Amino acid sequence: GNQVRLQAIEQITNRAPKEVVQTEPLNQIWATDVFNLAKMEEAVSKNAFKAIKKTVKTGEALDKATADIIAAAMKDWALAKGAKFFSHVFYPMTNITAEKHDAFILTNSDGNAINEFTGSLLIKGEPDGSSFPNGSLRMTNAARGYTAWDPTSPAYIQHTANGATLMIPSVFMSWTGEALDKKIPLLRSNSAMNEAAQKVLKLMGEEEVAALDSSCGPEQEYFLVDENFANARPDLLLAGRTLFGAAPAKGQQFDDHYFGAIPARVQVFMQDFEDKLYKLGIPAKTHHNEVAPGQFEIAPYYGAANVGADQQQLLMTMMKQTAKEHGFLCLLHEKPFAGVNGSGKHVNWSVGNSTQGNLLDPGKTPHKNLQFLLFCGAVIRGVHKFGPLLRAVIASAGNDHRLGANEAPPAILSVYLGDQLERVYDEIKTGKLTTCTQGGEMDLGLSQILNFARDPGDRNRTSPFAFTGNRFEFRAVGSEQSVSGSLVAMNTMLADSLNWIAEKLEVALEKQDKTAAVITVLKELMELHGNVVFGGDGYSEDWHTAAVEERGLKNIPTTADALPAFKSPEVIELFETTGVLSPVELESRYEVYAEQYNLAIEVEAKLVIDIAKTKIYPAAIAYVSELTLASASTLDLGIELDSSVAKSVAEHINGLLAATTKLEAEIAKHDFADTEAHMRHSADVICPLMAEVREHGDALELLVADELWPLPKYSEMLFIK
Ligand code: ADP
Ligand code: MG
Repeated sequence: GNQVRLQAIEQITNRAPKEVVQTEPLNQIWATDVFNLAKMEEAVSKNAFKAIKKTVKTGEALDKATADIIAAAMKDWALAKGAKFFSHVFYPMTNITAEKHDAFILTNSDGNAINEFTGSLLIKGEPDGSSFPNGSLRMTNAARGYTAWDPTSPAYIQHTANGATLMIPSVFMSWTGEALDKKIPLLRSNSAMNEAAQKVLKLMGEEEVAALDSSCGPEQEYFLVDENFANARPDLLLAGRTLFGAAPAKGQQFDDHYFGAIPARVQVFMQDFEDKLYKLGIPAKTHHNEVAPGQFEIAPYYGAANVGADQQQLLMTMMKQTAKEHGFLCLLHEKPFAGVNGSGKHVNWSVGNSTQGNLLDPGKTPHKNLQFLLFCGAVIRGVHKFGPLLRAVIASAGNDHRLGANEAPPAILSVYLGDQLERVYDEIKTGKLTTCTQGGEMDLGLSQILNFARDPGDRNRTSPFAFTGNRFEFRAVGSEQSVSGSLVAMNTMLADSLNWIAEKLEVALEKQDKTAAVITVLKELMELHGNVVFGGDGYSEDWHTAAVEERGLKNIPTTADALPAFKSPEVIELFETTGVLSPVELESRYEVYAEQYNLAIEVEAKLVIDIAKTKIYPAAIAYVSELTLASASTLDLGIELDSSVAKSVAEHINGLLAATTKLEAEIAKHDFADTEAHMRHSADVICPLMAEVREHGDALELLVADELWPLPKYSEMLFIK
């Protein structure tokens, strides 16, 4: 028991950073492991390249002949890089990345090995989908799934202990074409957004409008814990978070007694990790984050949402793998340590194209300003109308610890615009356009008005959804989550709003000039949806009351409360009318996410029971018997020892056992009327019981002799600086 913890401390104290081979300069390693357009251009004929480029730009299907040519080129490139395997990599409805590996080697009729990789192998693979949760779709497709290359996301080489593998980013669908993954809805949501945006831009008089795409720039927070500590914490290993652990007294948190050697190790890890990402064409920069000890951040430069989402998945995989190589456990969980700042993933999102640029950038001309006001207004409407959906796509057992629990950001979805922009929309709503008028003329000098809104100092850090100068930043996303769910929700709500705007604008333009028509439409929009705009302190008690009581916004604390939004008529209609998810596909997502939630809570509950009984209880019993033995001995000397500590320990032991017994009885229940009832049981019964067991466990940690305590303590684990 306790020896493991003490040995861990000993080992960590004497640990040196991993030796990392000095790498080449950035320009020599950048994207060397990616089969991108530049490499394709070198490798294939002009015509084949034209065809693939068109596919990449428009998502149009690739013809068989071109597919064969690309496959051959890709295979030669991969073999030259030492790859023996190729793999379709796909993104099931859980947050994981899945792979199906195949060898390039086939034996021909002479019994000789040949390298084979045809266009059809590139385009289509057949993993056995039965092990991936697919919700109710399981019924309709006999559990079989197919993968198909998404040519808009480049193939790359992944190096693992098993060697190099050519990885082919793919979609994953049922044989009837239903989306079983997170990529297909993202691609569809982009198309829906593009279609709707085209309508608005055409009405605004734009003649040439290139296809619009959404962009994603994710900021990822994470913790590093030394593997020696992690190995002594089954909760960290199996649930990704500590299920027990008393917060150290203030001041003690920063006791770096044991950990002099660690900063160098983290630095070496970061450099190694960055180099690996650069080779994979991921433009990421690591940051030392001072918010919590042991916590860090990495933010790749933004890019196309679909590629960005794939790269974000790869980044998480590489981060865990590289951390391991450096003797760390990388924790992506939203709340690994109670009472310590949790981890989020800020998803920076914008939409644009090559002809109009970024439509969430106010721009410099009145015309650009008008377009910006429309697109930004569309986002405001989307967040208001589909706030519960945005809450649902970021719902998970892990993220509940941040969102529902008095920690940033609040579980109420509101939009922060910044003072200046908020005033502009206010004036539009009330019809008193003073900021936007000059000498009685409508001027909309937004670029001047908004200039200082771009100053990051002006940002409101308490908002879950903030405008940050040329993009929105969705800050409530969980650190462990795929970014696809949020991107799909944002793109789709935007599509819906832009469709609404296009309809209204068309009518208004019949009677008014462009500027007046835009103001008319936005006035109506703000009257209906302006309530969601909030510039104050999102953490305050006042806001929690006012948001719900005065503004009619929803405060949705847990996943059990949030996921049913997928079943609401508005959300079903949203996804159906935009063509992003059919009702069946949507239902299957509800089922999968709910299952994941219940499963996560169940795993945690079982670990709580196990740790309480087999680690904490024995340590506490050992201590209480030491104390009572000592009392008996001193009594022989005629001195009665103060028994208050022994009594406290005994009481908490009883409390721990009683709560554990209740938890055991509740976790054994399995006959629920439906998934929602099961989620309610997890949220309302299991979670509070886990907290009750923990309360006694943590109280014991503060009472039991340090040398007897079996679990590495917060002050020990967190001290990586
Ligand atoms: P902060 O920590 O202040 O929020 P960072 O600089 O760490 O900001 O991260 C900002 C993120 O936003 C980066 O990933 C960046 O690439 C991304 N970003 C910047 N501009 C855009 C844009 N127009 N669209 C999407 N993402 C963007
Ligand atoms: Mg940010």
